[in-house]
Amino acid sequence: MKLALVVGGSRGIGRAIALRLARSGFDIWLTCHKGIEAANAVKAEIEALGRACEVMTFDVADHAQSKSIIGPALKRQVPDVLVYNSGITRDQFMMWMTKAEWDEVMHTNLDGFFNVTHQVVFHMMGKKRGRIVVISSASGQVGQAGQTNYSASKAGLIGAAKALAREAGKKNVIVNVVAPGIIETQMTEKLPKEQILPLIPQGRFGNVEDVASIVDFLCSEEHMYIHGQVIGVNGGLVM
Ligand code: NDP
Repeated sequence: MKLALVVGGSRGIGRAIALRLARSGFDIWLTCHKGIEAANAVKAEIEALGRACEVMTFDVADHAQSKSIIGPALKRQVPDVLVYNSGITRDQFMMWMTKAEWDEVMHTNLDGFFNVTHQVVFHMMGKKRGRIVVISSASGQVGQAGQTNYSASKAGLIGAAKALAREAGKKNVIVNVVAPGIIETQMTEKLPKEQILPLIPQGRFGNVEDVASIVDFLCSEEHMYIHGQVIGVNGGLVM
């Protein structure tokens, strides 16, 4: 049975990715931090689809905690797929940004990627098989005012994923990045949408299925020669 580790799968885009991969035949390891109840609800939805799901709770920003949960799990089974989706925003103009706002975003979005991926990729490379999809952002591609911390972390993920793609490609570990634009989730509910909408050529905001579908393709398509790429899912906002 195929297994996918979806990091940050309790709600929003991660939840949609987990459900979509379950529909494609993956069993799921679903991670969450504070949203344990929500994660358990997703687990029930996945099980209703006839797939197995295990919920793992840890703070991706905490290296020791991440290692203590992922390490033993990897001894049981190595996932075929890792989707690194967890992420936060702490938006503020640079001149008013606190050190805590900078650090929190970098620790969760960028350190979290290392804390999970460096364990998983070791085992995937040993097995000479694996797919890794990293969820970045249009903010990381073009920069966004009020988001120096978030843009830096998401640009950092693009650099890290491309470097990892160069390291892991020959071991048949395929690494790609998906960079969503404005997707309607809890994270974006307070954005001034009326100001942003005119900038989107497709004339609508994205939904979580728009992101889940491309992640599913990158994880499950057999004929795969897309590697080290950044795929924008943004309705034309960034081209
Ligand atoms: P949500 O805020 O709805 O969900 C975030 C997810 O990340 C939750 O599952 C949450 O788990 C998890 N998470 C957050 N902090 C931690 C942590 N410290 N440790 C472990 N897990 C954590 O976000 P979205 O679904 O909107 O976004 C998902 C990803 O897509 C993020 O990386 C985001 O940056 C990116 N993105 C989103 C866009 C959008 O428009 N929505 C646009 C571009 C990129 P829990 O609830 O359990 O704490």
